[in-house]
Amino acid sequence: MEENDIYNLPIEPVEKWLVPENINLPVVAGPCSAENFEQMISVAEGLSKIPNVVAFRCGLWKPRTRPGGFEGVGEVAFPWIKEIKERFGLKVCVEVATPKHVEQCLKAGVDFFWIGARTTGNPFCINDLCEAVKGTNIPVLIKNPIGPDLKLWIGTVERFYNAGCKRIVGVHRGFISYQSGIYRNDPCWEALFEMQREFPTLPLFCDPSHITGDRKLLREVSQKALDFNFSGLMLEVHPDPDRAFTDKNQQITPPELKALLDKLAIKEIESNVISGFLNVQKSS
Ligand code: PEP
Ligand code: MN
Repeated sequence: MEENDIYNLPIEPVEKWLVPENINLPVVAGPCSAENFEQMISVAEGLSKIPNVVAFRCGLWKPRTRPGGFEGVGEVAFPWIKEIKERFGLKVCVEVATPKHVEQCLKAGVDFFWIGARTTGNPFCINDLCEAVKGTNIPVLIKNPIGPDLKLWIGTVERFYNAGCKRIVGVHRGFISYQSGIYRNDPCWEALFEMQREFPTLPLFCDPSHITGDRKLLREVSQKALDFNFSGLMLEVHPDPDRAFTDKNQQITPPELKALLDKLAIKEIESNVISGFLNVQKSS
């Protein structure tokens, strides 16, 4: 495949498999980590009342930067996920980083996967994951790698596409920066704008939780993402954020998520990322 062909991959638009017609801002929301049954049911119940929430996210295996922290409950959470799907009719999305995670999640009826920033940056891991998903056409949300290397991110998209996954979403979670600023991970909007322009078939969601690392900044970053015509948001939500086992400073409660979404200025429903991009061009 020529390099330029990559940017025209016929990836299935999210409207075909994830986003109902009446939703103009789809949100994937849920706790950073699954902690226990009560926490999971409580947050899922709250989220099920917010129409924008098109899927529930939860981390079962947490990739911690340094050892010693909470590394997730693992497969213990599968019965909780089953109950959430049955009781609230939510689709559930889990981070996978090894072929074993993939195998376990497929068996447990997890609806789709996300690939974490630490995994996207490792082509060896991605090749193993692609081997494990072959033949399933399971949707995959792919976070950008930790460092600002768009080619590495695109390479991961391409590898999953070649493995038969046609339902792919890129998730922008910001890039690590050596200099400390107000954000946990630098959003680098210009690069992402360029990415939309060059790769218009890839739907892009924004993850303001991991960009900001701070719940006070979620609203401004979410608005910025909408202004840049991102197709949706991924946000971390917890029933009691201050007591969360991971990423507590950036999580909000379900009512806080509702209030945040109510305050965002959302544009008309866009048929796809390309038309959104053209609108930005016209108005600038
Ligand atoms: C997460 O979504 O909880 C996570 C670990 O994200 P990232 O891979 O973007 O750091
Ligand atoms: Mn997190």
